[in-house]
Amino acid sequence: MTDTPATPIVARTRAELARALSAQAGSRALVMTMGALHEGHLSLVRRARELADHVVVSIFVNPAQFAPGEDYDAYPRTLDADLAALRTVGAEVVFAPQPGEVYPVPASFTLDPGPIARVLEGATRPTHLAGVALIVTKVINLVRPDVALFGQKDAQQLAMVRLLVRDLDLPVRIEGVPIARDTDGVARSSRNQYLSADERVRARALSRALREGTRVADEGGAASAVAATARRVLAAEPDVGVDYVALADADTFEVRGEGDDAAAAGRPAYLLVAARVGATRLIDNTIVTPGGDPR
Ligand code: AMP
Repeated sequence: MTDTPATPIVARTRAELARALSAQAGSRALVMTMGALHEGHLSLVRRARELADHVVVSIFVNPAQFAPGEDYDAYPRTLDADLAALRTVGAEVVFAPQPGEVYPVPASFTLDPGPIARVLEGATRPTHLAGVALIVTKVINLVRPDVALFGQKDAQQLAMVRLLVRDLDLPVRIEGVPIARDTDGVARSSRNQYLSADERVRARALSRALREGTRVADEGGAASAVAATARRVLAAEPDVGVDYVALADADTFEVRGEGDDAAAAGRPAYLLVAARVGATRLIDNTIVTPGGDPR
């Protein structure tokens, strides 16, 4: 790679992608996105550059992972700004297809990720992770990367992708990248654009809930106390509607329920929150290690 990053090559079709890839020698990293790029996405690309000779970024608002009534049509599409941002971090190829280029009509095949797709995000969005599994499989097959990077912001998605790669023997290494946050603690998200100024302030309640939950865990609090604390912080914020506050084992993503305090003690777990701020659904998480004190 050169020291002065150039504007990425934009491949809109499979043929253009194949041509751009054939010009690459050496290892390749893939960062999959839905565009409206922010610092979180760019941190994935920077890490990708450290891990491979070439970086491919996909920008595709994947219809298969949106349910009817979700924000598929409203989702921000900002390709020119995305390309300008990618230029600063040195992605070389951007795969930006239209849905008709990616999905045959009618498409026949679906993937069922199993139990992980039915809890938490999957309970609220029952078809979401299946749609993610499908597009991840397809883009990995089209790009054939050595490594693919996913943000820990979407912890359940990352856990599902690890299962997908393991169960289907996809020949790729998966790398998780830490959550990028704004200075006020709010996790970067393309959906933050939907928030009014007032809602943007209320959105801080999610990361505050995680910090308070972490404090309780650090003081030896049990999993149920950690979750209860995070839930209280969110409940105290007006116009924030909690979808879930949960703990899931950091290795297995097994969701901890009431009565699991003993099993959860001393094991790293994701503390996960999902909440609506106004009409915008936001998610966030952090890793905690609960103790045994039920409080
Ligand atoms: P999206 O465009 O929302 O589908 O996200 C594309 C990738 O960027 C996914 O792997 C996300 O987990 C990751 N990502 C999104 N926001 C962040 C963030 N704030 N920090 C780290 N990774 C992120």
